Amino acid sequence: MSQHPKPLIAGNWKMNGMRANLSELGIMGAHFTPELRKITDLMICPPFPVLGLAAEMARGTGIHIGAQDCHEKYSGAHTGDVSANMIFDAGATAVIVGHSERRIDHKERDTTIASKAQAAMDVGLQAIVCIGETKTERDAGRAISVVRRQLKASVPAQADPQKLVIAYEPVWAIGTSLTPTNADILEVHAAIRADLKRVFGKTAGSEVRILYGGSVKPNNAREILALDHVNGALVGGASLKAADFMAIATALA
Ligand code: PEP
Repeated sequence: MSQHPKPLIAGNWKMNGMRANLSELGIMGAHFTPELRKITDLMICPPFPVLGLAAEMARGTGIHIGAQDCHEKYSGAHTGDVSANMIFDAGATAVIVGHSERRIDHKERDTTIASKAQAAMDVGLQAIVCIGETKTERDAGRAISVVRRQLKASVPAQADPQKLVIAYEPVWAIGTSLTPTNADILEVHAAIRADLKRVFGKTAGSEVRILYGGSVKPNNAREILALDHVNGALVGGASLKAADFMAIATALA
C-alpha cells in the first residue's frame, strides 16, 4: 500500500451500539498509541443516538467519529432524518453515504447520494461515498462498469477531493465472510483511482482515499491493506469489538 494518502480504518457499527457498547470505543482509544496514530487514521461510525456521546468519549484519543447517513437538506419537515450540520454539531467529522444497505433498504439513488455527499462537504464533514457491485453484476463481468458508473453519479459535481473518501464495497462481500480475490480488489481500486485522477487531476485524485469494505477481518486485513490503491478499510462486523478492530488497525504496522 502506498503511504500517501494516510490509511483510514473506519468502523461501521450499523444498527448496533447502545451506550454500554461505547466501552469498546474507550478500549480502542486506549490502544491507539502515538506510534499507531502516525501510520493510520481510525474512525468509528456509531448509530445516531450515541453519536454525540461517542464524539465526547473519543475526544483526545485521535479516533474520529462519523455518522452512517445524512439528509441532503439542513432542516425542515423531514421526520426521522438527520442533517449533515446536526452531525457536525454533535462532534462528528465524517458521514458514510450510499452504503449498499441504504441503497437497498431505502431505495437510495446515486443522485440522492451525491446530494448527501455535497451537503456533508459543505458543512466540513468528510463524505465516505460507498459503491460496489452485486454478485449478479460481478458474475456477468460488469463489476468495473457498475462501479465506475456509481462513482461518476454518486460523487457530486462540485466535490472537494480533500473531503472525499471512496469505499469500494462489493455488495456480496458485506457480512458474508466472502471477499473478492486480491487481483479483483486491485483491478477495481485501480479503475477508481484512474477515474479520480481524471476528475480531480493527478495530484488531488491521488490523494483521495479508497477504502476496501466487505468482510475485512483480523485474518485477512494485512494482505488486503497491502494492495496498491487500497488506502484503508471500511469494517462492519469486526469493528464492534475493540480486540478485532485494533487487530485490523495494527495489521498496518
Ligand atoms: C459494511 O457494512 O460496510 C461492511 C463492510 O460490513 P462487514 O465488514 O461486516 O462485511
